[in-house]
Amino acid sequence: MTPSIPAPLANTESRAAKLIREAFQSGRPLTYLLTSEEQRAGNILRDVGAVLNIPVSTWTLTSSQSPRSVLEFIAAHPQPGIFHLKDFHEPLRDSAEIRRALRDLYESIRDTGKFVVITSPVRAIPQEVERSIVFLELRPPDQVEILAFLRAELAGTGTLDETIEELAPALQGLTLDESRYALRRALAATGRLEIASLPALLEEKRLLINRTGVVEFISEGGDIAEIGGLEILKKWLLDRRKLFQIRDSLSQEIVPKGILLMGIPGCGKSLSVKAIAAAFRLPLYRVDMIEIFSGRHGRPEAAFVQACKMMEDMSPAVLWFDEIEMGLNSSEAHGEQGRLFGFFLTWMQEKTPGLFVAATANRIDLLPAEILRKGRFDEVFFVDLPLDDERIEIFRIHLIRRGVDPSTFNLQQLKEITTGWSGAEVEQCVVSAITKSRIANQPLTARDLIDVAVKIVPLSRTMKEQINQIRGWAFERAVRASPKSR
Ligand code: ATP
Repeated sequence: MTPSIPAPLANTESRAAKLIREAFQSGRPLTYLLTSEEQRAGNILRDVGAVLNIPVSTWTLTSSQSPRSVLEFIAAHPQPGIFHLKDFHEPLRDSAEIRRALRDLYESIRDTGKFVVITSPVRAIPQEVERSIVFLELRPPDQVEILAFLRAELAGTGTLDETIEELAPALQGLTLDESRYALRRALAATGRLEIASLPALLEEKRLLINRTGVVEFISEGGDIAEIGGLEILKKWLLDRRKLFQIRDSLSQEIVPKGILLMGIPGCGKSLSVKAIAAAFRLPLYRVDMIEIFSGRHGRPEAAFVQACKMMEDMSPAVLWFDEIEMGLNSSEAHGEQGRLFGFFLTWMQEKTPGLFVAATANRIDLLPAEILRKGRFDEVFFVDLPLDDERIEIFRIHLIRRGVDPSTFNLQQLKEITTGWSGAEVEQCVVSAITKSRIANQPLTARDLIDVAVKIVPLSRTMKEQINQIRGWAFERAVRASPKSR
């Protein structure tokens, strides 16, 4: 007899509870739940029990009942129930008799409303029982669980529910134990939880992510207003932001999935990725392809797959694959890179909609053609050297950022001298000129900028051929991020 299910309210059942409930509903009497969060697993089972209206009992290795007798007890139990067995993987691994008894139990409790759940931090299911057990992995808590956790932890502290709802997404991707540390860190800093606690909450996440060695949490923000030029790209992002924010109500195919930015070094690709995260109001994580391929984190394919999987738990977020050509190189179609590439393509199609991918590449010609095919990325943008007016705008942005009012300068005269410069070179010119003026203890003048500018040899002059090659290649395959052609 499978218990009849009252339809649970959509927003009050966690993803984990739903997963387990559905396994029960499908009539599976034995479940193996992989998790290191035993206490959380117990709470989730109690939630499922409450929905199904059946009690939960727990057994551990240290209880007085032997593994054998607990199975007999369950078999003889006259009522429906959820039986949570902790550490049971140990006797299961060590004893053929227990394995036999579990298989017998499987037959005897089918359709009786009795469910056995073995929780374990390791996947150790003996072959003989594999077919009888449904294997589930407890992923980090979703927002329903995090909200319930925060409300319980903060009860009596006077924290506003509004604040809790606003801060809960910051804990996405952490286990409840890790969330507890993050919460303590935040409370220690200010004494109570408020919007200003956000950096302290995120710090725990930064530590967790950085521990992986292949993904980095980027805390420095960006601002679309701080990007000079690239108007087409900026408009595209602002349009997509609306769609991304209402993604839950859209069909999957129109939810923005990601962009590929390719182009000449130092022209604002990284800056744009940071601005996307800020515009979408999402945290930004950077996957380091060079680290993945360093061999320091095991097999590259496994490290890559694990990084992608972990990031799904962190969603909603922007995931940045920097120098993607370093990992998804077309020179090796078979072998490790070929497999990794195959995985990436499938993952891009199937990943959770809450994850927006921003990939950047300097040498897009190294990427396999399939990656550019429509449907993988929403758009492939080419970020070229800035045009005349764009360079002036970049000058303005960097002067303002350093506390200099550009309205007193005639920046137009810099247009000609700076032809062929990248945004990074414009920035370098501003920094050098300001440094000189500060050393001389004089206010910055247009002359100072010109004096520095005439001495700068832009990369586009020394790397003329490579740049022309990148441009020629991008011309047919990508959309220009800036409106006019030169
Ligand atoms: P790389 O491939 O070398 O990483 P990139 O295209 O990612 O280059 P960025 O890191 O975004 O280049 O740019 C380097 C610096 O130059 C930025 O930190 C920014 O300050 C400045 N810069 C470049 N392009 C622009 C721009 N369009 N507007 C404002 N600043 C810019």
